[in-house]
Amino acid sequence: MIIVLKPGQKQAVIEEFVDKLTSRYDVKVNTWVGAHSTVLGLIGDTVSIDAEYIEAQDFVESVKRVQEPYKKANRKFHPEDTAVVLPSGAHIGGGGLTLIAGPCSVESEEQIVTVAKSVKASGATFLRGGAFKPRTSPYSFQGMQDEGLRLLSLAKRETGLPIVTEIMSIDHLPLFDDVDVIQVGARNMQNFELLKELGKIRKPILLKRGLANTIEELLMSAEYIMAGGNEQVILCERGIRTFETITRNTLDISAVPVLKRLSHLPVVVDPSHASGLNWLIEPLALAAAAVQADGLIIEVHNDPSHALCDGAQSITPAQFDVLAQKVSAVSAAVHAL
Ligand code: PEP
Ligand code: MN
Repeated sequence: MIIVLKPGQKQAVIEEFVDKLTSRYDVKVNTWVGAHSTVLGLIGDTVSIDAEYIEAQDFVESVKRVQEPYKKANRKFHPEDTAVVLPSGAHIGGGGLTLIAGPCSVESEEQIVTVAKSVKASGATFLRGGAFKPRTSPYSFQGMQDEGLRLLSLAKRETGLPIVTEIMSIDHLPLFDDVDVIQVGARNMQNFELLKELGKIRKPILLKRGLANTIEELLMSAEYIMAGGNEQVILCERGIRTFETITRNTLDISAVPVLKRLSHLPVVVDPSHASGLNWLIEPLALAAAAVQADGLIIEVHNDPSHALCDGAQSITPAQFDVLAQKVSAVSAAVHAL
């Protein structure tokens, strides 16, 4: 249930009302204070609440029941866009197009530092790189694991770029202290125990859409993290499985405006895993910029033909440089409209 208060309510009035609601009903109240209104989002057993009685209070503007099962991720609970901002000022959401770039997997010190320096020079503000890799085959390269995380930290020290990397098991969390944004991969989008544990920490989570999951399921997974109190969730559209076989997945470009309408969370697009093809990265990235995604996460490798993972979809630093200029131009153009 959403209760919108009339503008200009005193803090004490809001607090007293919230106390009344939480003591009388089995609900938690999420308070969002904007410049022109205050929105109280009630989560829990709201069936017994008499909406007409609430609406009759002189400081209440309107009362609405929320049908969607996601509450904290719902834009109705938080009308303005959420920006995930790191202490360094690097941000995803809240305007502009953030570029997250780097190799699929960390392979060596030279590789990760070289790629980090070049993507930074092209305008990336986050470094990606997998240390723990979810591979279809147990015989494929599984990532450098803790050594990979150490090399990511080294690249971060050399460039100042914050790190985005995937977690596969909550047991590895102690190794992620220096990681700035923890990625939950497509294959773990509905690993609810993992999501619950990530809800207990206070670090941004980049949550990728599952291979065959609906938009609502993605939002419900975000809700798992947010229900635990970690509200810094970034949603990622990375392509879904369809009957198409030419591309690795099918980029659901409409997921971007749909997610941004339904939720206040930032949305990034991963054209690399969506397409699986290096020549498709640029057009898909341009499409993502045109639909006003908040960011792009792109695989960049200094030597794609020898990459240990996902070489076919990796672009070179030079190609990334061209892409970065083009997507910035599209992003600036659509924001100026
Ligand atoms: C990745 O980002 O390297 C990755 C494995 O992505 P996804 O979970 O989207 O397949
Ligand atoms: Mn990859």
